[in-house]
Amino acid sequence: MELGRALFLTGAFATHAFVGYALVAGLTDADPRIGLVFGLLPDADFLFPADWAWPFVHRGITHTPLFALAVVAGGYAVGRQQTSTIGRRVALAIGLALGSHLAIDSLSPKGIDVLFPLRTSWSPGLPVHSPTATVFLWTASIALLVWDTDEQRSI
Ligand SMILES: [Zn+2]
Repeated sequence: MELGRALFLTGAFATHAFVGYALVAGLTDADPRIGLVFGLLPDADFLFPADWAWPFVHRGITHTPLFALAVVAGGYAVGRQQTSTIGRRVALAIGLALGSHLAIDSLSPKGIDVLFPLRTSWSPGLPVHSPTATVFLWTASIALLVWDTDEQRSI
C-alpha cells in the first residue's frame, strides 16, 4: 500500500473512532470506549479477502442500516443480561457510534447501500475525509467533549 493511501486510511479510521468516542462520552452514560470500537467497526470490512464478492466488500454489508440494527439489538441483548437500563444504555451507545460512521460514509462519493439488501448507493458526493472535513469533525467532537465536561462540572 502506498504511503498516501495508508495516511488517508489512518486519518479516516481515527476520525470515525474519535467521533464515536465523543458522541458516546458526550451524550450517554455508557463507557466511551464503546464509541471508539463501534465507531470503527464498519471498517473491519477492510479485512475481508479481496476475492470475496458484494456484499462482503468494503462499504458492503457492514455499512448498512440493517447491519447497524442487528449490532444494536445484539448489544441490547448482551447489556440486558445485567439490567434493562444497561441494555438500553449500551444499545444507544452502539447506535450513536455506528450511526455516525454510516452517516459520514453515506455522504462520501462512494456512499453506502442505505436500502440493503437492495443496491442503492446514491450520495451527495461530499469529500468527508478531506482535510477540511476532518478538521470539522474533530473540532465538533472536541467541542462535544468540552461541553460535556462543563456540563458535569456545573452539576
Ligand atoms: Zn467506513
